Amino acid sequence: MEIHIQKCQQCKSRNLRNILVRDEKQKVFVQCRDCDALVARYILTPGGYFHAGKGFESFLRSIERDGGLTSARNVDEQFHQAEDGTVEEFAELQQPLKEKYQGGLP
Ligand SMILES: [Zn+2]
Repeated sequence: MEIHIQKCQQCKSRNLRNILVRDEKQKVFVQCRDCDALVARYILTPGGYFHAGKGFESFLRSIERDGGLTSARNVDEQFHQAEDGTVEEFAELQQPLKEKYQGGLP
């Protein structure tokens, strides 16, 4: 596993904003708050967006917008996988992050 905490390539700032865009795809533009430079753009896979604490209704809307409603059971399963999987994966990142950034997270 590789872990990387993003920073601005122009001014090295870690003060970044995520701009979420939904048109035919779901995208995240990362912009530097200090110099306004574009840092990165992500394109999400369908169903790939998980918003912590937002619950099943929000997840359902996101699946619908991605055009991916199969069966209710399937969606329920997907939600629990996304929720448990994402929260768990994030928790598992904490130790390797501490090891990589021993003076504290940037
Ligand atoms: Zn910058």
